[in-house]
Amino acid sequence: MNYFKSTIISLITIIFVSSCETEDFNNSQSTIFSQSWNSGRSAKEPAFHVQQIDTNTIAIRQSLRTTLEAPFMYLVFGKKKALLIDTGVEGVNIRVEIDKQIENWLARTGQNSISLVVMHTHGHGDHVGGDTAFESRPDTVVIGHSLESVTNFFGFGNKPTQPISFNLGNRTVELLLTPGHHPSHIMVFDETTGILFSGDVIYPGRLYFQCGRIQEFTSSINRIASFANTHNIKWLLGGHIEMKKQAGITFSSGKISRTGEHLLELPVSIITEIKNGLNEMAGEPRVTQFNEFVLFPHPINPAGMSPPDWCNVDSKYE
Ligand SMILES: [Zn+2]
Repeated sequence: MNYFKSTIISLITIIFVSSCETEDFNNSQSTIFSQSWNSGRSAKEPAFHVQQIDTNTIAIRQSLRTTLEAPFMYLVFGKKKALLIDTGVEGVNIRVEIDKQIENWLARTGQNSISLVVMHTHGHGDHVGGDTAFESRPDTVVIGHSLESVTNFFGFGNKPTQPISFNLGNRTVELLLTPGHHPSHIMVFDETTGILFSGDVIYPGRLYFQCGRIQEFTSSINRIASFANTHNIKWLLGGHIEMKKQAGITFSSGKISRTGEHLLELPVSIITEIKNGLNEMAGEPRVTQFNEFVLFPHPINPAGMSPPDWCNVDSKYE
């Protein structure tokens, strides 16, 4: 998601909800998570909702009561390193929650200690807001947000289109640079669980990219599609949920509680759907809805323009 979202979502919601009250989408049963995510309805809802994917893999959602972005974060444990993917929106103490989860993991495994690496799917504020609290944490590295910081740390070198392996100790993840939503956007594939942590490039919601970045965004999707041909991806877990269970319907902004959210996880077939949707645009970006996501190209400055075809209003998208 990105900074100007709140100024345009209401308009989009009116357009789509009024035209698309379609059939129920059968996606209510998660095979990964035993609970539905907290809805934001209770004022007593904790700041984070934590669910184990397995004993070494944890998903954490920041409460809608603390931020309408309600982003997801993930904690992946190897033998030597724990990898935290994103730190959420500032204003709540993610460090305390992560420290607790690490303590629990150490108790479960009988290990004395583990290093922590804090990385980000990308540098937008709803994914890096908790960084400061980790900077003073012992045995911890916090990776910067810029493309240079990310490529230098992981060692992408002069082949940024190639996946890079990162060893957590008895567990290796593959990293893919996927710019288009943000210059340093990165996805993380975990072979152990078959999960692709897909950030804000793929999630059940509005997939944002600047009109002029459609080629870059499309290249990233094509790269992921190729990767999926040679890796056993079971599910994609992204940074947000913005779709309802009903096909093609998004939540409006400004709501601190939700009922009937789409599942967080998306099947690997979603990659082909996105790829096909981009191909159909044929280089002419236009806001387009699908059952489980919305392709959402946008001008840098949307003032005075209206979707879905606002990319074509001014001179070549800028
Ligand atoms: Zn986001």
